[in-house]
Amino acid sequence: MAEIRIEQLHKAFGEFVAVRESNFTIADGEFFVMLGPSGCGKTTTLRMIAGLELPTSGRILLDGEDVTFRRGSERDIAFVFQLFALYPHMNVRQNISFPLRVQRLPRREVRQRTEEVARLLRIDQLLERPVGGLSSGDRQRVALGRAIVRRAKAFLMDEPLGALDAEFRELMCEELRLLHGRIGATTVYVTHDQIEAMSMADRICVMDRGEVLQVAPPMEVYERPATRFVAGFIGSPAMNFLPARGALAPGRDSIAVSGHEVPMPRLHEGLVGPDAVLGVRPEHIRIGGPEGQDAPLRGRVFGVEYMGTRQLVTVDTDAGRLKVRAPNTLKVGDGELVGLAFERERLVVFDPATDRALR
Ligand code: ATP
Repeated sequence: MAEIRIEQLHKAFGEFVAVRESNFTIADGEFFVMLGPSGCGKTTTLRMIAGLELPTSGRILLDGEDVTFRRGSERDIAFVFQLFALYPHMNVRQNISFPLRVQRLPRREVRQRTEEVARLLRIDQLLERPVGGLSSGDRQRVALGRAIVRRAKAFLMDEPLGALDAEFRELMCEELRLLHGRIGATTVYVTHDQIEAMSMADRICVMDRGEVLQVAPPMEVYERPATRFVAGFIGSPAMNFLPARGALAPGRDSIAVSGHEVPMPRLHEGLVGPDAVLGVRPEHIRIGGPEGQDAPLRGRVFGVEYMGTRQLVTVDTDAGRLKVRAPNTLKVGDGELVGLAFERERLVVFDPATDRALR
């Protein structure tokens, strides 16, 4: 097993910077997810860890040892490509054991390890079956078996579920998490899907335009996003952003949104300028009557979407259009005038000068 430490890791392709001076440490046994939009540098980072790409500068340490210039094959790290591709002309046993046979390991060891992995994935009774006739779930397990049979120090996975439909993705996410629980190997998993990231990760590393913006457990990334980008990228529907004003200084506990004072949690940091951006998630807004004392903002209902036990209410206010997630018991109709109250402790203020959240 392995700890992976990334120090000042930088990768430029000519003028273009794909990864900018990244720093983070992936703990031994951790399920670490790299999340970000297409082109943000996740894959490039992963390829540098795997030894498939040489960094422009910076270091990669595996269990404290500098492996920056070591070949991929000498790093004992397994790179898992998309998990769905099996060798169709081979049976289950041949598929799983393939990486070991390539390494020319003794037949007894190949047999033993293949069967061990098959038991782990609960497909040991399928070993002699051709892969063509298997259910999709079993095919995925075979693919997974082939990926882990090598017993590497760490597994790197680049959108391994990318080609699957939604239902199987969910199944495979569960399967991967279960497997990780059983073998406990350090896993670095790349995805652009925030739901996948939230449900699988011990910690998430959010990247945008080559930069690492935050590394934290899913709940912290959701509740205490480090930047406006992180806040907007995670959560669906997205966080609402409202323009605000007020020279928010340490200790001050309210901020003005279109002329109304909104109570804020006390912060330790202040703003650079007079402007601020207030971030509030749809589930942290309460809809009440327009005359409510504790509702600083008023607005008119623009639309209501039913979503099972909840409803998503769109409200137009002086400060802009907001999405509110409300219980189904709330009766509101289009055009109705309502008051909006924010859950004070859940509000986040961003400095528009830096896009960073104030703490
Ligand atoms: P995706 O999910 O689309 O793969 P990503 O976050 O994994 O996105 P990368 O593949 O790491 O992003 O790419 C980051 C940026 O670096 C992209 O703009 C890409 O075009 C660029 N890039 C990657 N490899 C090369 C290369 N060999 N030469 C030039 N530019 C490259």
